[in-house]
Amino acid sequence: MRSWSVRHARGLTTIYAGVEAILVKLHPLLRRIGYARLEKPVFAVEKLAKGFLFDSQSCGQCVVGSTGLSCPMNCPKKLRNGPCGGVRMNGKCEIYADIDCVWVLAWEGNKRLKSSEYPIQFVQPAIDNRLAGSSAWLREVRSKVGSVSNEI
Ligand code: SF4
Repeated sequence: MRSWSVRHARGLTTIYAGVEAILVKLHPLLRRIGYARLEKPVFAVEKLAKGFLFDSQSCGQCVVGSTGLSCPMNCPKKLRNGPCGGVRMNGKCEIYADIDCVWVLAWEGNKRLKSSEYPIQFVQPAIDNRLAGSSAWLREVRSKVGSVSNEI
């Protein structure tokens, strides 16, 4: 499924942006309900959807929008800023020869995006393992409306 998502990166990214825009609009309601209270159910839905589409590993700091919808957490080395030096000539992973290198997929997916900026070129911050298992969607909404922090 993850290869399918990369092949359809353009359409899925548009849908994803739409869902994000709706969630941002819902911020007043979400705040009223309470982000802490929403964390568990939203994370459950997010895990299911992103797990199905991207083999997401629920790191809580989703960057698939910048990686052509290829989840970098599927890289055995968990590299978030490009491939290691061991990618095989056929595009397979150095560690597991039967899987595609996530960064080869990321480049393919990125080329399908509308943006001429190539978001894959943005440098990603180091992963914060304390956020694993929390909702990246809710964190993104709060960061978009400027109400927040990386705290769960
Ligand atoms: S080949 Fe690609 S997926 Fe495999 S370890 Fe290196 S960067 Fe990660």
